[in-house]
Amino acid sequence: MSESLFADASKRLETALKYVSISEDGLRRLKYPKASLIVSIPVRMDDGSLQIFTGYRVRYDDTRGPGKGGVRYHPNVSLDEVQSLAFWMTFKSALLNLPFGGAKGGITLNPKELSKQELERLTRGYIDAIADFIGPDTDILAPDVYTNSTIIGWMMDRYSIIQRRITPGVVTGKPIAMGGSQGRDTATGTGAFYVINTILPKYQQSPPKTTVAVQGFGKVGAVVAELLAKGGYRVVAVSDSKGGIYAEQGLDIPSIRQYKEKNRAIKGVYCQDSVCNIVEHKVITNEELLALDVDVLIPAALENQITVDNAGDVKAKFIFEVANGPTTSEADRILEQKGIMVFPDILVNAGGVTVSYFEWVQNRSGLYWTLQEVNQRLKEKIVAETEKTCSIAEEFSVSMRTAAYIHALNRLGEALDAKGTRDYYINGN
Ligand code: NAD
Repeated sequence: MSESLFADASKRLETALKYVSISEDGLRRLKYPKASLIVSIPVRMDDGSLQIFTGYRVRYDDTRGPGKGGVRYHPNVSLDEVQSLAFWMTFKSALLNLPFGGAKGGITLNPKELSKQELERLTRGYIDAIADFIGPDTDILAPDVYTNSTIIGWMMDRYSIIQRRITPGVVTGKPIAMGGSQGRDTATGTGAFYVINTILPKYQQSPPKTTVAVQGFGKVGAVVAELLAKGGYRVVAVSDSKGGIYAEQGLDIPSIRQYKEKNRAIKGVYCQDSVCNIVEHKVITNEELLALDVDVLIPAALENQITVDNAGDVKAKFIFEVANGPTTSEADRILEQKGIMVFPDILVNAGGVTVSYFEWVQNRSGLYWTLQEVNQRLKEKIVAETEKTCSIAEEFSVSMRTAAYIHALNRLGEALDAKGTRDYYINGN
């Protein structure tokens, strides 16, 4: 794809616009990120050499509240990617009616090549570099691809040292012992499960009759695969960056998860092994997984996985986007022509930011909730917004993606326009 990720992401706004009442000024504001920071982070490596890494933090919009978004450690991290992820976060927070804006961060590196000590020095260096840009009332960080609660805990610790006060609210997804919330580690997968379970019955798609393929068996993909398997769905394929496995009768997801977790524990912070090492299956590539003849396809890895080049091969009836931005806008058109229903990232994976919001609330109030309370509140919120998005899709006869943007844009427009519109200043009304 020659076009930038951000240019492609912005196209989603254009489709939704004709159904939304937002002032021209508000819309113009939303076309640009509010602030973007690029930093270089010097890190002393274990062999004594000095390496310089590039880090980013983009706060796309904070009209509805402080910026909120994860931090990604990945070789492909770029300003374009971070800006796009911050853009999606803005709409996701608005869609779930959370008092947050959208932000995102990242460092360009392959974290599997660093020792745990080097990763800690890098993480603390990143916080040193962006400390003035973030804060519990300005911009709040969280985990994303190849970052986890340990890394988030280092971030909170470093920020608290700089501020000379314990500041748990600057990050979410931290260890429970440092003020983390019950259920945050499983929130994105759990939220996706609630969305899927709300949608599929509307199409008479019952669990035992439904086959599922999940691309990306990470923090989120593994949880959603396991919840679906426990809920009676037949999860026939899963994959990670090294490849995938397929078994027509369904896979034993809890065992695969345990296997990955065990190997990760043995080999360090990141899992070095692949799900391909589990027996009793057919080995498939990620491309083959996306083209499987299943009912439900769940991309849960990275963006740009379903593109103009492979959308024609997709045979699933439903796609639930657990990853951010897995489908390009051109691929969307092809899928729509084929009658494949796509449920968008800003709704399906919003369970993560919702429980992040709960964690931030708990940090500020000092009162901590049980796992049951967290999951109950998550379920209420995400199911209500899913139903609302479905009724908007029906009302305007638009795709679920367009409906989700309409819903989010209405809330964002209201907040942006509350600060004053052109009419207000020119006509005094
Ligand atoms: P993770 O690092 O835990 O997992 C990513 C998984 O994808 C790993 O298993 C990795 O092996 C696999 N992967 C990487 N490249 C792949 C490829 N080309 N093909 C197949 N698999 C590949 O990350 P995560 O937190 O689970 O995030 C996954 C997606 O979900 C990302 O798009 C992220 O932005 C999105 N997301 C995460 C959260 C969260 O709370 N962690 C919240 C909302 C959205």
